[in-house]
Amino acid sequence: MAEFIMELNDEQKEVRDWIHGFAADVMRPAAAEWDEREETPWPVIQEAAKIGIYSLDFYAQQYFDPTGLGIPMAMEELFWGDAGIALSIVGTGLAAVGVLANGTEEQIGTWVPQMYGDADDVKVAAFCSSEPDAGSDVASMRTRAVYDEAKDEWVINGTKTWATNGGIANVHVVVASVDAELGSKGHASFIVPPNTPGLSQGQKFQKHGIRASHTAEVVLEDVRIPGNCLLGGKEKLDERLARARERAKAGGGERVKNAAMATFEASRPAVGAMAVGTARAAYEEALEYAKTREQFGRPIIDNQGVAFQLADMRTSIDAARLLVWRASWMAVNGRPFTAAEGSQSKLFASETAKKVTAQAIQILGGNGFTREYPVERMHRDAAIYTIFEGTSEIQRLVIARTLSGMPIR
Ligand SMILES: Cc1cc2nc3c(=O)[nH]c(=O)nc-3n(C[C@H](O)[C@H](O)[C@H](O)COP(=O)(O)OP(=O)(O)OC[C@H]3O[C@@H](n4cnc5c(N)ncnc54)[C@H](O)[C@@H]3O)c2cc1C
Repeated sequence: MAEFIMELNDEQKEVRDWIHGFAADVMRPAAAEWDEREETPWPVIQEAAKIGIYSLDFYAQQYFDPTGLGIPMAMEELFWGDAGIALSIVGTGLAAVGVLANGTEEQIGTWVPQMYGDADDVKVAAFCSSEPDAGSDVASMRTRAVYDEAKDEWVINGTKTWATNGGIANVHVVVASVDAELGSKGHASFIVPPNTPGLSQGQKFQKHGIRASHTAEVVLEDVRIPGNCLLGGKEKLDERLARARERAKAGGGERVKNAAMATFEASRPAVGAMAVGTARAAYEEALEYAKTREQFGRPIIDNQGVAFQLADMRTSIDAARLLVWRASWMAVNGRPFTAAEGSQSKLFASETAKKVTAQAIQILGGNGFTREYPVERMHRDAAIYTIFEGTSEIQRLVIARTLSGMPIR
C-alpha cells in the first residue's frame, strides 16, 4: 500500500505542468467562445487527443497511479482551464470507468478504445443512468432491459436524461432495471454500440453553466443489443440477482449496498477535484485583480475586508484539496470509507467552489458581474458540482448514515 503523501512527486509534477500548459494555452483562450456557442468543442478535444491528454492510455495511467493523486491532479488542472471544455474532455471517462469497473477484459478491450476514437477521428462516450423521475432516487429507475433468449439479445426501453454526451456519443453505457422488484440491486449496465437502431437523442438542454458540455435526453425504443453487451456477462448477473433475491427474502441486502457505496465513494473525489480546479481559477483571478485594482488611492487588497476574503478562499481551497487527495488515496489503496470520506471530499469541495466563485465576483465588483472577466462564467460553472454525481444533500445523507449507522432520511 502506498503511503499517503501530500506532495506530488517529480514525475507527477511534470505531468501536472504539461496539463497546465494545455489548460492555459488552449482551453482558457477558447473558454468564452464555447460557453457562448453552447456546443461540444470538437477542435479542442481533437487538440487534446493529438497531444495524448484525451486518450485511454492517459486516463488509465492516472487512474491506476498508486498514490491516488493522478486523477485529482489531472482534473484540477483541466477544470482550472475551463469547466465546460474540461467536462467535454473527461465525460468519456465516466462511461469508460463504468466499463472498467463492471466489464470483462474482452468488453474493456473492445469498447473502451471505441469510446475515445483516435486523434484523426475523435469520439466521445456517454454514461446514462439518470431519468426524469429517477435522479437522486436511483432505485425508481424505469428503463427496462429484457433478455430475448431465442436471439441472445437484450431489448432496452426507456428514457434517460441529463446524459453528458448523450446522443452524440459513439458508445453509450446505459443502466437499466432487469428485475424491478429488487430496486437498485436489480440494475445492470449495458453497452449500446455505435449506430444501434432505436437509440436517439431527445431534448438537448440549455444550461446555466458548463455550457460547452453537451447534456441531453437519450431515448431508447426497442433497442436490441447482443447478449455480450451486458457488462460483466449473464452468468455473473444471474448469480448476483440470485444472491440479492435470497437476501431480500431474508430481509438483508447490506453487502450489495456496501459494494455500490464503495464505488461511489471512490468516484466522488474526482468531482471534488474538478471543483477545486474551478475554485482555484476564480481565486487566482480575484487575487490578481485585488492587487492591481486601485480605489481610494490604494490597491483594494490593502483593505482587510478584501484581503481576509482572499485568505478564507485560499484556506478553503487547500482544505478541499486535502480532503480530495485523502479520499483518492483511500480509494486506490482499498481503504474502507468508514466516515464516507469520498462524499466528504465532494461535499466540501463543491460547496467551496460555489462560495469562492461568488466571492471572486464580489472582489471584481462590476467587472466580476460581466462576461469581460471569466469569474462570472466560473461561478455559473461551479453550480454543477453540488448537483451531479449526488447532490450536496445526498452527500450529507451518506455521511450521516455512515457515521451513525442509522437509516436517516
Ligand atoms: C449538467 C449535468 C450533467 C449530468 N450528467 C449526467 C450523466 O452524464 N449521466 C447521468 O446519469 N446523470 C447525469 N446528470 C444527472 C445528475 O446526476 C442528477 O441531476 C442528480 O443526481 C440529481 O438528480 P435530480 O436532478 O433528479 O434532482 P432530485 O433528485 O429531484 O433532487 C432535487 C432536490 O431535492 C433534494 N433531495 C432529493 N432527495 C433528497 C433527500 N432524500 N434528502 C434531502 N434532499 C433531497 C436534492 O438534493 C435536490 O436539492 C447530470 C446532471 C446535470 C445537470
